[in-house]
Parts: sequence; C-alpha cells; structure tokens
Amino acid sequence: MVVTRFAPSPTGALHIGGARTALFNWLYARAKGGKFLLRIEDTDKARSTPENAQAILDGLTWLGLDWDGEPVSQASRAERHREVAEELLANGRAFKCFSTQDEIEAFREQAKADGKSTLFRSPWRDIPEAQHPDAPYVIRLRVPRDGETTVPDAVQGDVTWKNDQVDDLVLLRSDGTPVYMLAVVVDDHDMEVTHVIRGDDHLANSIRQTLIYKAMAWDVPVMAHIPLIFGPDGKKLSKRHGATGAAEYQALGYPAAGMRNYLTRLGWSHGDDEFFTDAQAREWFDLDGIGKSPARFDFKKLENICGQHIAVADDAALLQELEGYLAATQAPPLTDAQRDGLARAMYCLKERAKTFPELIEKAHFVLSNRPIEPDEKSAAQLDDTARAMIADLTPRLQTAGWTRDELEAIVSSVAEDHGLKLGKLAGPLRATLAGRSVSPSVFDMMLVLGKEETISRLEDQAA
Ligand code: GLU
Repeated sequence: MVVTRFAPSPTGALHIGGARTALFNWLYARAKGGKFLLRIEDTDKARSTPENAQAILDGLTWLGLDWDGEPVSQASRAERHREVAEELLANGRAFKCFSTQDEIEAFREQAKADGKSTLFRSPWRDIPEAQHPDAPYVIRLRVPRDGETTVPDAVQGDVTWKNDQVDDLVLLRSDGTPVYMLAVVVDDHDMEVTHVIRGDDHLANSIRQTLIYKAMAWDVPVMAHIPLIFGPDGKKLSKRHGATGAAEYQALGYPAAGMRNYLTRLGWSHGDDEFFTDAQAREWFDLDGIGKSPARFDFKKLENICGQHIAVADDAALLQELEGYLAATQAPPLTDAQRDGLARAMYCLKERAKTFPELIEKAHFVLSNRPIEPDEKSAAQLDDTARAMIADLTPRLQTAGWTRDELEAIVSSVAEDHGLKLGKLAGPLRATLAGRSVSPSVFDMMLVLGKEETISRLEDQAA
C-alpha cells in the first residue's frame, strides 16, 4: 500500500510551497488508495511552537487535505532515534567520535588554507574501543569510502554521489540528542512510508538519508523531489511577489477547490488541462506528471481557475465555505435573513465571481435592507427621467406573474414607452434594487427578491 507523509517543521505558518508539497502527497495517497500521514518535525525546540503546528493543521484543513491517523510528533520519538544510533554503533555501521568542535574547526581552517577538501575525516573511525578516552563523543555514520550512492528520484532521475565525497555524518550529538537526518529516516521507516514527496531543497539530504537506510538494511522509500515554486519573475517565491502563506489565500477569499486545482497544476500537468475537479485530479495524478523545472506562480491563472470552481460549485457548499471565509477574516457572521438571501441568490452570484470578496460585493442587494442607500455611482443613475420610468414600472409589476419572461417583457415595454432601449432602464433599476453598480442582472435580482420586496425598493426611489 502507498503511504505518503507531510512532515512540516512548525517554525512558521504553512507556506504555499509546503501546502503544495502536502497536496501532492495527499493526492498521490488518495489516487492510489493509500494513506497520507502527518509528522510534525518539532525537534528544533527554540523555533517550534504548538501555535505554528496548529496553524499548519488549520491550513491543511482549509485546503481539504485530510490526513490518516494522529499527527506524529518527531520530538516525542527521540528515544527511538537514539536506539537506532546505538544499534548502528553495535553493528559497526557507526562509530564514536571524540573530536571536539575546536579540533574540527581547526582542521577546516587548515584545509582551507592548504586548498584541500574541508570534508572532515574523523581520526576515530578506526580506533578500537579499548583506546577510547572517557570523554564526550558523538556517534557518526561509517559511510563507505568506496563506491557511490544513487537515489533513483522519481522526478529528477538518478542522482549519484561518490561515497568518498560524503562525510561521516553525525547521528547522535554528544548530549545524546539525535540529529534531524537520523530522525527523518527512522520515522519514515517506522511509519512505513513508501513515497517521500518533498521540495528539491532536500535532494542533497536524500543521499545521506539513503546511506542511513542502507546501513540499517531498510528499504529506501521512493523519493520524488519537486522543484520549488518561483514567482512570476522566475525568482524564488517571496513576499515581494504577493501572499506566501496558505492562510493569506484563505483570507483573500480564494475557494479551497480552486486553490487545490491551481496548486496541483503548479509543477504537475496532465496534457493541457488547467481546470479539473478533485475526482479528475485523483484519477490523473501520478509522479511522472511532475515537471523538472520550477513552476512560476501566476496570480491571474489562480483567479481564473478559482472563478471556474466557484461557477460550478454546489450552492449550499459554496455558502458554507463563504461563511468559513467570513469567520477567517473576523467579519461579523451572517444573519438568518442574509443567509437565506444568499442561498436564494447563489445561483446568479457565482457566475463570474473569482473570489469570495467579489461574490460578496455582488451580493450587496441581498445582504442589505431597505431603504437601499445607493452609492455615488448608482445615485447618479437616478435622475428625473429614471425616476419617472420607475414610477411607471411599479404598477405594472404589481399585476405581473413573477417569471423571467414576463418581467423582461414589462421592463422592455416601459423602456419603449419612454423611447429608450432596455439598457437605459437597467442602470437605474440596478441602482434602485442594489444601490451598487456591481450586481447580478436586474431580472435575477427581481426573481431573488420577490415581488413585494422589489416593488417596495422601487417605491422607495420613486418617492
Ligand atoms: N521538516 C522538513 C521541512 O519542513 C521536511 C523534511 C522532509 O519532508 O523530509 O522542510
């Protein structure tokens, strides 16, 4: 069974790059009917906080990336990591090194001055136990001096290093704490992870990790190192380009389905498909669709895809997500009347809205009560001619059957009576019903508001 994992360090919020890594792991597990696990890499005590860990979980939840089982805390597994270091020591695949930091520094300085490799070679690698001093030591991996190590990366192809260019890395520090490199390998092994999908900034680590796996005679998981995300200018994505945190995108009002779609496309492709559903992504996603070159974040494309997802979303689900967005931005919750109005209007609000703020702007007509205060632009529409037309329209609507066809016929004929095209009446009507220049069509507004409310709003302005 496929088992993937997302292993964030809770030293900050969920970055958009991390969100994409999580998404690929989630999607791959879901595509293959496997498991998606979470591991919080909280070993850096000084920089990790429970608040950050929670914010990461919240970000994943917002994105709809559900994980299997409980998140694993890496720090809580230190004892197990030590045990593996001891095991490697016992079977000769690791050794005690008594060199002090000062000695290592001095060696490096000297090597630099001599123009030689600064790769530290511990003199303790081959000194028998009997000659060991009673002094603090670290445990180092005994990396083979000959041969080479290859990581058959599913994205990058074979990545090969000569073993004599790899140092005998430290596994356990002199205070007995395990290093990150060991912790990752032990955890991935114990969690039975079969596929490690992560940013290519970890590619060099994967050689060292592979050496640890081999020393333990454990199976090495499939590695897939995905290129980082760049900004539109081809430089590493940063604040300069726009929002970089997943929560910022939630607060900007992008729908989660659109975000998932866009982030999936960021570095992965399936022919020319830009827009796809979760079900399609699940059917199509595979590691061979991941590109080798960095993807560029394109804010326009993100908006486009989000707009398409809003347009096809289920009305009730969209309303629920909209309420989540309001809560995330600390906006006041909806009243029952507003929720009801939105539910009735959703079918026409979701056309052409790319984000929740755009949808809310369009929804002003159902979110506000009479008397509608037209904004400046709308007020300018309501001149004497317009008011006269509205006054004519009102009695005719009283007797109308409330269907789109009938409403269109009545509004057209009133416009005609005044020697004007329908468009000339649409502006003032919009101003009357919505008080804003952004809204659904006047007929949709009339249908959503119903006869009584529509006529009351017209009378408010005709007066
Ligand atoms: N904790 C690492 C990070 O946040 C991820 C390590 C890994 O995926 O192996 O970059």
